[in-house]
Amino acid sequence: MTLAAIQDKLNRPLRDLRISVTDKCNFRCQYCMPAEIFGPDFPFLQKNELLSFEEIERLARIVAELGVEKIRLTGGEPLIRKDLPVLVEKLIKINGIDDIALTTNGVLLPKYAKQLKEAGLKRVNISLDSLDNELFGKINGRNVGVAPVKKGIQAAKEAGLGVKINMVLKKGLNDKEILPMAQFCKEEGLELRFIEYMDVGSTNGWKMDQVMTKKEIYEILKKHYELEPIGSDYYGEVAKKYRYKGEKIHIGFITSVSESFCSTCTRLRLSANGKLYTCLFNGNGHNIRDFLRQGASDADLVEYIQTIWWNRQDRYSDERTEETAVSRKKVEMSYIGG
Ligand code: SAM
Ligand code: SF4
Ligand code: SF4
Repeated sequence: MTLAAIQDKLNRPLRDLRISVTDKCNFRCQYCMPAEIFGPDFPFLQKNELLSFEEIERLARIVAELGVEKIRLTGGEPLIRKDLPVLVEKLIKINGIDDIALTTNGVLLPKYAKQLKEAGLKRVNISLDSLDNELFGKINGRNVGVAPVKKGIQAAKEAGLGVKINMVLKKGLNDKEILPMAQFCKEEGLELRFIEYMDVGSTNGWKMDQVMTKKEIYEILKKHYELEPIGSDYYGEVAKKYRYKGEKIHIGFITSVSESFCSTCTRLRLSANGKLYTCLFNGNGHNIRDFLRQGASDADLVEYIQTIWWNRQDRYSDERTEETAVSRKKVEMSYIGG
């Protein structure tokens, strides 16, 4: 089956699929799964509520027919999902999928990096918000120090995976870590991506004045490093990229709040419990899991996804205000995976 590529109401093609493979996590980052809310009694998904690998593979095959070329696995913490390399192996074999990446907090990479690489994974984004043990332990809500993440970075490099570092910045919390993180990543030859703190979900108590914007981060970096802008590598790339002058090492900014990039957003998201979301900030998921389990044929699934994408007109970040951050019904980050 080869189908025509599809476009949404704002003429954006479907190119990427982000799959959250679990809603569980070994961290409790305060901007994502605050420990006070995601406590021991939190009703995490049961096994039968999660999509099986076979179900994920089937949906991935169908979206590949509709134009998806890249898949990112995320969570929750994706490496908590048992046998994740088996899923990678299934997905990389799908016609049309030319890139599989993973976003992880890195702690389990020493155990899985080699297997993931052998299964066909190309790249990992490892999240690290501070190099200060105490601060990092406070941010991740589990008192985990920096060393386990550094070991994960090392393991990923040794396995031959491409590595980028994600750093979410919250004003007054970890902005003093901008320069140490830039220095560390430069020394390690790693691309660092500063992510503006976003109003995902409804549990992190987001406020606009807690956002460190790209402009503010850049001002700090500029005093110590000479950076030159570089163009994006592909249509829909979200990072605004720079490189240290005269060097090959890149540095990027994900400016979801201060410079939205909705006009080129080509991402569809599949949540851990099998709902499709057309935007990180759209709380209305489409329950494709139940449709699929009721015996939908491939043709039914194609029609279902096509209809969702044709009707898509999300551009939340273009329209964000302090008021929408509170009033909009949104899905939690751990279900949908960033
Ligand atoms: N557990 C994995 C990890 O932390 O890398 C994958 C899932 S996590 C939800 C995906 C990415 O979203 C991470 O880089 C994380 O730092 C980022 N993230 C989570 N909450 C965020 C928020 N409120 N604003 C901006 N980025 C956020
Ligand atoms: Fe877990 Fe990642 Fe969310 Fe942190 S950002 S709580 S590591 S899912
Ligand atoms: Fe895409 Fe929604 Fe983010 Fe805009 S706000 S870039 S439409 S996910």
